[in-house]
Amino acid sequence: MRRENLHSTVSTPIAKAPMNLDQQPLELVCPACGHKFQQTLGRLKEDPTIDCPACHRPIQIDAQGLRDGLKPVEDSIADLRKALKGFGKR
Ligand SMILES: [Zn+2]
Repeated sequence: MRRENLHSTVSTPIAKAPMNLDQQPLELVCPACGHKFQQTLGRLKEDPTIDCPACHRPIQIDAQGLRDGLKPVEDSIADLRKALKGFGKR
């Protein structure tokens, strides 16, 4: 099953994976060329200007957009934490 495949490719047990939002990849779309790429949140917080890997134009990430993009991530991490809590109990 798909879950089994995923498990075998991830060497770190999920319970030990760093729950660090800074390592969370976000999908970005270049406004100039439409190229989609991913950047980690930590990188964006450090410097909200990124060069598009396709056209090399600098892209300015606005804080509000970043927060909007972050909300579902935070929600899913909260869900994951809840799930892990129940999971570790045995
Ligand atoms: Zn681009």
